[in-house]
Amino acid sequence: MEELLDKLLEECRPFTTQGKVATYIPELAKSNPADLGICVLSSDGRCYQSGDAQKRFTIQSVVKPILLLQALMDNGEEYVHARVGVEATGKPFDAINVTDQTLHSDHLNPMVNMGAIAMCTLIRGETYEEKFRRVLELTRKLAGDPEIQVDEAVYHSEKRTGSKNRALAYLLKSNGMIEDDVEEVLDCYFKACSMSVNSRDLARIAFVLANRGKLPQTEERIFSARYAHYVNAVLMTCGMYDGSGNFAVDVGVPAKSGVGGGIMAVVPTRMGIGIYAPALDEKGNSLAGIQLLKQLSERMYLSIF
Ligand code: GLU
Repeated sequence: MEELLDKLLEECRPFTTQGKVATYIPELAKSNPADLGICVLSSDGRCYQSGDAQKRFTIQSVVKPILLLQALMDNGEEYVHARVGVEATGKPFDAINVTDQTLHSDHLNPMVNMGAIAMCTLIRGETYEEKFRRVLELTRKLAGDPEIQVDEAVYHSEKRTGSKNRALAYLLKSNGMIEDDVEEVLDCYFKACSMSVNSRDLARIAFVLANRGKLPQTEERIFSARYAHYVNAVLMTCGMYDGSGNFAVDVGVPAKSGVGGGIMAVVPTRMGIGIYAPALDEKGNSLAGIQLLKQLSERMYLSIF
């Protein structure tokens, strides 16, 4: 397996030159577009890695399924679904998806910013500091990595420049979909996006979703099989921004990408995959990362279709 990963990595390396690192969060512009790493955690309990699999980067939108899981665990499916729907928007992650009509929960999706910001308000905690701590703890537990922390430079960079997210949050507020102070809600969202992870962390989080809510080895249950089903279904339809349809055809597994260059892919019952390659395509997906997943899916028959 490690040999296969090394081979695919070399085959996909040229794609790193075709993408661009994100620059709208100034600190992300410092990423090295040539980086490429993969980690696969398989159901036999083994972890296979190649390239820059240990390198840390910010989780960005890959935290969205974790926010959704925490909201589901805190409130149950009915409550969450009534507030943030699951229909794909088919629009970019930060699109202002509103018309003159009143905003409705069906217009929100937990995998795009507006829905994810609303999701932060559903997480249990007296303060937004406490809500964020709980998200951090869940992420560390799912990843099996107590060293996950906020990358302060990226957090401050995003907080300073996050006007579009402020616009989205104020739209939610003006439509009565959030009640709390916008800056506090966004602070939780920005910190969650700025957690620093590596490909191995993403592979392990994906593995727990693939293993229907149980950790590897100990088989400790973290969330119900129903929530794994819910999150994986949402990832399948809208985890890869407005490139989710092509990704379903080309790769065929639930996955989530982030503008930090990470992708986590869930192969139900079989494996969790984490990738890092920060050069992005025009939709915000890791360009070489998608190629790597496409090749791996073809060689190992990973598509669920
Ligand atoms: N923190 C980023 C933002 O809201 C996340 C975007 C992403 O990875 O899609 O702009």
